[in-house]
Amino acid sequence: MTEAPSFDVFQPHDHRRCRKEALAAVLAECSARKLRLTPPRRCVLEALLEEHRAMTAYELLDRLREAGLGSQPPVVYRALDFLLANGFAHRIERLSAFVACTHGEGAHEAVFLVCRACRQVAEASLPALARNLEAEASEHAFRVERVAIEVEGLCARCAGAGA
Ligand SMILES: [Zn+2]
Ligand SMILES: [Zn+2]
Ligand SMILES: [Zn+2]
Repeated sequence: MTEAPSFDVFQPHDHRRCRKEALAAVLAECSARKLRLTPPRRCVLEALLEEHRAMTAYELLDRLREAGLGSQPPVVYRALDFLLANGFAHRIERLSAFVACTHGEGAHEAVFLVCRACRQVAEASLPALARNLEAEASEHAFRVERVAIEVEGLCARCAGAGA
């Protein structure tokens, strides 16, 4: 996943291709890093890639159950742990839900643009902002381990619909 994102989540785009390329990027990275994309992990990832909408663990568990890959919450949480730890998915705290990564490689910092109406999430990278935060934090003798910035608003479609 070294290429710049070629799809803008909130703009009309060829999502079939977007989804296919995202899956291919994860598969390539798994084989390069010798990571095992087990059936439950792949099932959760594919569910997240269907749309750019954030999904809850319960919704994802439904997918696992439908696919016959498990019906107990630990199955979905273990799959999510793998996807999160490897930077293939992100947790959106304010929605208590998850999205597939559309960016970057490995664990990385990101800024999430979260539509409060349709729960679609776009990932933007603002490294300059993150660097400023780290400098600011170190002035307070605080060591930053993880930055997760979530910006709430409306996507163009929801804003147009008068949501
Ligand atoms: Zn897409
Ligand atoms: Zn990401
Ligand atoms: Zn929206």
